[in-house]
Amino acid sequence: MKITAIQTHVCNARMRNWIFVKVLTDQPGLWGWGEATLEWHSRSVIGAVEDLTPLLLGEDPRRVEHLWQKMYRQHFWHGNGIVRATAISGIDIALWDILGKVHNVPVHQLWGGPVRDSIRLYCHLGGGKMEDFYQTNPADAGRFADLAVKAVEEGFTAFKTMAVPWTMPIEGRIPIEYATRCVRAMREAVGDSIDIMVDCHARPSPRMGLLFARALEEFGLYWFEEPCWPETVDAIADVQRAVSTPIASGERLVSQYAVREYLEKRAVSILQCDITHVGGLTEMRRISAMADAYRVALAPHNPQGPVSTAASLEFGFSAPSYIICESVHNDVPWRQDVVQEGFTVEANGRLVRPSSRPGLGIEINEEEVRKHPFQQELPQTVTYRDGSVGDW
Ligand SMILES: [Mg+2]
Repeated sequence: MKITAIQTHVCNARMRNWIFVKVLTDQPGLWGWGEATLEWHSRSVIGAVEDLTPLLLGEDPRRVEHLWQKMYRQHFWHGNGIVRATAISGIDIALWDILGKVHNVPVHQLWGGPVRDSIRLYCHLGGGKMEDFYQTNPADAGRFADLAVKAVEEGFTAFKTMAVPWTMPIEGRIPIEYATRCVRAMREAVGDSIDIMVDCHARPSPRMGLLFARALEEFGLYWFEEPCWPETVDAIADVQRAVSTPIASGERLVSQYAVREYLEKRAVSILQCDITHVGGLTEMRRISAMADAYRVALAPHNPQGPVSTAASLEFGFSAPSYIICESVHNDVPWRQDVVQEGFTVEANGRLVRPSSRPGLGIEINEEEVRKHPFQQELPQTVTYRDGSVGDW
């Protein structure tokens, strides 16, 4: 059995170009799907997949670990930069899809699963509609509450919000007040039985992140995410120690080596490594074992396309420390036209039951993908009031 070609299929989904990776083999009808979506870096990732392809052509796709080693270690430059790691991830996910199909079992069965009966989904406020999630005015607490109620009406028992506004390295009370009012409005609107997550997008400085964390502690958040830059792991650890709220981070980390520092410094309660960036399912499984040694939970970052979601769920049905799956359902109205999925979602509670289809259990509708060709992603830049560069 040999790999004969690796293709990228780009599908523009407004904020992101979903990059689907298709690994073809010499066996009729046998191919695998992966995803290597990296917003604002689409051309680079497509080029990186092309650069990796010569390492893989003619190889046996069933040697997933061996091929991962080739992709990460050959050609001198290790695959731990975000672009190459995303390309590796897309190919690696597709190889696991192939291996599941070869053995006619879902991927989680290859890893000894399932370890649970269901996985809970959480949504973005507004279901992933860009304007609702990223651009709701932080002064409009009532809008946050309305969107929170809508999420619950749609069956979700957990949702994530970006209620922490852009802030300069040090600010006075106003942004703290905005965040407090927004989270209070959401909590009062949905009650205590719904889990609320606040994502700071690493907007704050370490000190502002700490102030936000302290101010929001009383609302019993399910987690408080990326309180400051991922590069400042000691500062994230300081926030983790300063509040009782579980701190989550890790979506921008690449490779087990970056994760190791987060674990050794006890910086987080939840690791959010992204399977499409961190090094694919192969690397995520290593990270899962490392996290288990520290009793740290896993909630992979997953705001991208449907192959990423299928990969996260297959992983989640095999990983004991996996707690919840991020989901986006309202980013583009044709999302479900692009994919056939093997898993089912119960509308009440948004619980996912495992797929019984081989591999990732999905098929991508290439004709539908072609209706949404690459477009330059919409700019999302931040400038503070004094004209200096901020963090989105
Ligand atoms: Mg995040």
